[in-house]
Amino acid sequence: MRIVLLGAPGSGKGTQAKLICDYLKIPHISTGDLFRAQIRDNTPLGIKANEYIQKGDLVPDELTISVVKESFNKEENKGGFLLDGFPRNLHQAKTLQLILAENKQYLDKAYLINVSKDTVLERIAGRRFCSNCGASYHVSFNPSKLKDKCEACGGTLIHRNDDEEHIVLDRLTVYNKSIQPVLNYYKELGILETIEGNADANDIFYDICSSLKAV
Ligand SMILES: [Zn+2]
Repeated sequence: MRIVLLGAPGSGKGTQAKLICDYLKIPHISTGDLFRAQIRDNTPLGIKANEYIQKGDLVPDELTISVVKESFNKEENKGGFLLDGFPRNLHQAKTLQLILAENKQYLDKAYLINVSKDTVLERIAGRRFCSNCGASYHVSFNPSKLKDKCEACGGTLIHRNDDEEHIVLDRLTVYNKSIQPVLNYYKELGILETIEGNADANDIFYDICSSLKAV
């Protein structure tokens, strides 16, 4: 099975990706992980990508596409996969279709985890991280028993600058603008499934499983 998983920052996409991959026993291809591996191994692609990442810019399409394409050549990804973080725009989506078609493959499903702005803000604005060990907490969903200190190491919990409300809203606007044409494209192909994401992780996963059984 070949699946694309789409969702805004704060949609809970990472959690669902793991659950779906365990359930279907398919590899999880995350562009974030692919780039981290390329950067760690100091490959030409990794060095190039890192220049953009360091500046806080989005990695250009052609670089991202190269990294994804390379991952499809790995033996373990040939039988199916879940793609996470890709495609992010219509050009990437159409290129993905072409790459798969060259290998006589196609996507079975594109899942969108649909969340409201309020849900994203609640989830992200409440995140806290330990300044010492990096452990993560949430003021409502996963509070530290030691209030503003880390349960694991006693370090001070901080709110990351990236998680400020106006930054989150900006990120969301950029994401929505580029993903809308992708959604329309997958809708035309008849493979888009929209999952209600303003729910807890178990309910979201239940909905995805129900839809998978129909494939
Ligand atoms: Zn800690």
